[in-house]
Order: sequence, then structure tokens, then C-alpha cells
Amino acid sequence: MTRLVVVGSINMDLVTVAPRFPAPGETLLGERFVSVHGGKGGNQAVAAARLGAEVHMVGAVGDDAFGQPLCDALVAEGVDVKHVARIENFSSGTASITVSGGENQIVVVPGANARITPAQVSDARRVMACADAVLVQMEIPIETVEATLRLGHELHVPVILNPAPAQRLPTDWLQLTRYITPNQHELAILLGAEASEDFRSLMRRSPCPVVLTRGAEGAWFREGGEPQHQEGFHVEAVDSTGAGDTFNAALAVFLHEGLPIAVRKACAAAALSVTRLGARGGMPHPAEVDALLA
Ligand code: ADP
Repeated sequence: MTRLVVVGSINMDLVTVAPRFPAPGETLLGERFVSVHGGKGGNQAVAAARLGAEVHMVGAVGDDAFGQPLCDALVAEGVDVKHVARIENFSSGTASITVSGGENQIVVVPGANARITPAQVSDARRVMACADAVLVQMEIPIETVEATLRLGHELHVPVILNPAPAQRLPTDWLQLTRYITPNQHELAILLGAEASEDFRSLMRRSPCPVVLTRGAEGAWFREGGEPQHQEGFHVEAVDSTGAGDTFNAALAVFLHEGLPIAVRKACAAAALSVTRLGARGGMPHPAEVDALLA
């Protein structure tokens, strides 16, 4: 069984559907409300667990009404939450999303995610030392991302950095990273390059191997030499929320089979995820991935 550590954010997404967006100072009657478990870290942990991995989450929730349900949902998917801290007098991460006429307005409050410390990463050293791979994204403090990259490098455990939301990172951090998994826009920001630069040229300039996602077109990957293309799988797209998270999780789960196979399986898993509503709702089980690949 593949063993993974995911270091990242856990959020409650609060989604209101409204007839229009309220003006400043206005109170409006909404049409519908749903709360959905999210955060890139939590989503990637769930996707990996569903694909059959043993997953250990390093993260944090608040001591508000959302903290326990957020953890319970991870546990229900089989994710180990021993390294998820409960921060006192702090809110859990939230995304307040108003949807109207196909557009949305989002306010994200990192809450407890902003309190995930490098010390928590050190505390997870024992599980990390036995892991096949580590996944980390950038919705958490940047010093905690750095601590994860450094510890993974020290322990010779491959770290996959999903650089979202993107910011420029020092070259020496990237040199510690086994793979980065940006889209084109994120890769340009990460390298401090022009947004208009061709993605293949950006990939050649990266100081570490790149797996670049291209939506329905699939993904490109480069470990040296020329960038290689993996076609996307043709599916009926319903909701692309969580496609990137499923992609990253599958890449980590199947990495031990070699990069080309892992990227192919990641494209298949992510394609399946867009056929169903919601970030976690669409995350597939291994049999579904095998069926699409057959
Ligand atoms: P992000 O939202 O992070 O930019 P992408 O939109 O590139 O991520 O999606 C990640 C991966 O999900 C893609 O590389 C692809 O494999 C898969 N994917 C996304 N949208 C589709 C789609 N419409 N059809 C098939 N696969 C898709």
C-alpha cells in the first residue's frame, strides 16, 4: 500500500446561491445554501485515500463548530488526523462563496491553516520517513512549505509541490522539490517569468522536474530532455472543481510506477473527477480509473 503524507489546508466552503450579488450595505434573500468540505490539503488527502493509499494529514482546524466535522470527514475517508492540530480560540479555514448567474465572489479566511507550523512538520518526521511521497500546496504558511521541502529532501522522500495559489519561490527551494505540478499561469509566477512565455520554454527553465496540467488537454511532463505530452481523457465535464486536487493525489499515489504511468493515471483520475459535482464528490476509486484506462 502506498503511504503518503499531505501537508496542507483544510477548509469549510460555505456556498450561497443568490439571485444577484448584494450591493455594499444591502441584505438580500438567497436561494440556497450548502456547506462543503474543502481546502487543497484536505481534498488531496481524500482523493489519495479513495485511490487506496494510506494517508497521514498534517494540518490544523479551529475550535469552532467546523473543526470537528472537518476532521471527522477526513477520518471517514480513512485519513489519519493525528498530526492535525486543533487551535484554541481560532476559527477553521473558511471560504465564503456567493454564486449568482454562473459567476462567484469568494472570501477566503485561512483561520487555523495560517497556524500550521514548521514544528508540526518536524513532529511528523517518523511518518514522513516511511512515506513513499509527500504532497504539499501553498494555502499554508510559506515557512511550513519550506520545512516540508527540506525534511523530504533530508529523508530522501519525494516531495510533490502543488504551487497553488502561486507565488515566486527561491530557486534553492525548487531544487529540493522532486516535482512541481503547476498550470501554465502558476509556473510563470513561480519562476518570476512573463505570463505570455510558451509553457514548454517555461518547463525547460524550471530548476526541478515539472508536471504541468492543461485542463481537458491533459498534462505535460519533463524530467530532463523535451517536455512529453499525456492526452486528456474524453469525458462529459460536469464540474471541474477538484480536478487539480485529484490529479495531484493520483500522481503521488502512482509515482512508484514511474512518472509516465503516474501522469497517465493522474489524467484518468482527474477526468473522472470532472464528471461529477463537487470537489470531493467526483474523486474516483481505483476500479473506475482502471476501467477508463482499459
Ligand atoms: P487547475 O484547475 O489546477 O488549473 P486543470 O484544469 O489543468 O487544473 O485540471 C487538472 C487535470 O484534470 C488536467 O491535467 C486533466 O488531466 C484533468 N482535467 C481537467 N479538466 C478536464 C476535462 N474537461 N476533461 C478531461 N480531463 C480534465
